[in-house]
Amino acid sequence: MNIMLATERSTMATPGILRLLQTIADGSVERFSPSITDDGGVNYPTVERELPPSDGDPVEALERLAEMGVLFREFQEKAYVCPECRADGMRYTTVCADCGSEHTIERQQREHPPCGVIAPDAEFQTENGGACPHCDQGVAIEDLPVVHQHVCQTCGSYADGTVGALRCRECAAVFDPQNAIEWVLYGYGIEEYGHQWLTTQLNARAALQSMLADRGFEVDIDTAVRMDDGDRDVHLYATEELLDDRVIGAVHDRPDETDVDRLHRIASAANARGVLATTSGSVTERADALAQEYDIKLLRYTQEGTLAPDYTTDCEQADRSRSSVFERLTASFR
Ligand SMILES: [Zn+2]
Ligand SMILES: [Zn+2]
Ligand SMILES: [Zn+2]
Repeated sequence: MNIMLATERSTMATPGILRLLQTIADGSVERFSPSITDDGGVNYPTVERELPPSDGDPVEALERLAEMGVLFREFQEKAYVCPECRADGMRYTTVCADCGSEHTIERQQREHPPCGVIAPDAEFQTENGGACPHCDQGVAIEDLPVVHQHVCQTCGSYADGTVGALRCRECAAVFDPQNAIEWVLYGYGIEEYGHQWLTTQLNARAALQSMLADRGFEVDIDTAVRMDDGDRDVHLYATEELLDDRVIGAVHDRPDETDVDRLHRIASAANARGVLATTSGSVTERADALAQEYDIKLLRYTQEGTLAPDYTTDCEQADRSRSSVFERLTASFR
């Protein structure tokens, strides 16, 4: 049998994901909200805290949950990060279009339409009435149109307007907004379907727990198993001392070969048997084949809240396509 094994990235209802969703389902967290890190990136502190590294990138995990309809995504704000020092919170300012200096002052001036010159009032005034400082034509200053101009105190240039810019609060560097690092920040909340989905996963885990407890096992849920390269979260770990028997249980919506492979590797390391419950009632064909090869027991979690030995298999979905929205939200380093 030749089965390609995906990475752990696609694993969905991991113990970490269930823990994470519990924080929002029980109201201890209202939203998974982003924050800007010290190095100018974006993270989700609650997600980083709950998800172990083996669950992959926190933002990808949130996006997958949003694709599944478990979470919804909502726009929060845009953040601008200083390209120089990576600090968050740049402030809007205006600068001279010629030299980039922030030190510009808006000043009232007069225009002499025949020659087009613009100058301060004082330059039109002479002792014997008034004259244009450029073409020398005599003028009555009160007849000349007023114009407001921005005068740069650094280079002296006049302009009708200034240019919008962003100034870093930390290092005081001033940037063209196009050159600042722009993050489009999204928060994630739980959908009504997400509540149902989570409840089903937790109930299936509880069913697995009571089934094993009825058989004399001591059962720990949402615990960790030691492996050579670190601890691995598991949904359930059950031991029966008399027979020196161990079971590692997992619960998934629709187990795929990644879920089976992950369970197999942890169970092997713990010298335990693997039991995998499907809450949708089906598993992928490859997961089914792999479970047989690894001697992992597959069970169906029924609508009555029990576990049954029968389940269905269905064809592999095409590899999850990344939505264009995801591409857009990751970052735009412009
Ligand atoms: Zn003139
Ligand atoms: Zn200037
Ligand atoms: Zn800075």
